[in-house]
Amino acid sequence: GPVLGLEASCDETAAAILAPDGTILAEAVRSQLAEHTPFGGVVPEIAARAHLAHLPALAAQVMGQAGVAPADLGGIAATAGPGLIGGLIVGASFGKGMAIAHGLPFVAVNHLEGHALTARLPGVVEGGVEFPYLLLLLSGGHCQCVAVEGLGRYRRLGSTLDDAVGEAFDKSAKLMGLPWPGGPALEKLAASGDPMRYPLPRPMLGRPGCDFSFSGLKTAVAQMVPKLETEQDRADLAAAFQRVVAAVLADRARNALAMLPNATCGGATAMVVAGGVAANQGVRAALSAEAARAGLPLVAPPIRLCTDNAVMIAWAGIERLRAGLTEPLDFAPRPRWPLAELSAEPTGERA
Ligand code: ATP
Ligand code: MG
Ligand code: FE
Repeated sequence: GPVLGLEASCDETAAAILAPDGTILAEAVRSQLAEHTPFGGVVPEIAARAHLAHLPALAAQVMGQAGVAPADLGGIAATAGPGLIGGLIVGASFGKGMAIAHGLPFVAVNHLEGHALTARLPGVVEGGVEFPYLLLLLSGGHCQCVAVEGLGRYRRLGSTLDDAVGEAFDKSAKLMGLPWPGGPALEKLAASGDPMRYPLPRPMLGRPGCDFSFSGLKTAVAQMVPKLETEQDRADLAAAFQRVVAAVLADRARNALAMLPNATCGGATAMVVAGGVAANQGVRAALSAEAARAGLPLVAPPIRLCTDNAVMIAWAGIERLRAGLTEPLDFAPRPRWPLAELSAEPTGERA
């Protein structure tokens, strides 16, 4: 039967119903932007309360839209980590409760595996991307190059030494006086800017490996900001920032491809980008050029599936259910849960 996906690990409350073949039957995301904007960032306690207030209604909404009753479900997939513990407890407990009430299998989904497997949804590219592929996970909390070798088989090739790339967008945007979350606002401002006017450092560019570093770039932005006078100056700095970030990401992606095991990119079928920063058109263009140089397609899921959503959680659940991987109902949410700790074996942790 169809699978219900639940996501509450950060500041989006989301629910989705997918048919066993990955067809999206219904999806809903409720952003907590309004709750957190007064604080200029996500407040964990407010997030947890908002998830609790809205998740049951969202789940009911998607079930209604899909015309699916709990008894028709083939399983429940809920994000169980990594993320903010309050929200994880809300989402996972709600999912477990439904699983108990209706006698359904429960899948504790790793949020990062959700991002990693989104490209395999049959609707993203015809039939979905095949293993193995290179994943660039570019979000507010994560910045990693990952070899996706199979379900539960993730090899981290590199990651950030300081800020995640989305965090770099957010912090730089804040320095420039833009509203939170900064990424989309900065991209909008950059559109009217001259990316070549201001020189900015390009951290890690040309270095071996595929680690990232963005704190130096943020410092450079902080030093430039007091010198800006006109709106055009601000737009030019935004454009320069975006160009430099895109160039660094492309450079890191090139090295990551070379680091994949075996010849010819380890048989990689694609370069896949996920996470909120994948919404950035400048970043997409730079990565797309880099993928083309390696003879690979760049697969970028639609933006609503790049940012946090429950479709990806339901899909990861479907992939795991197909492989016979479910968790006992005493599976404890994990605020920290690196991809590399996953396996294609049951994660069955008993509290
Ligand atoms: P994680 O998934 O790692 O737990 P998260 O929930 O913060 O973290 P996402 O929701 O995937 O991550 O992405 C949010 C991040 O993406 C924010 O940092 C935001 O600024 C950034 N972002 C969103 N849109 C854009 C854009 N158009 N350009 C640049 N950055 C963007
Ligand atoms: Mg988010
Ligand atoms: Fe995310």
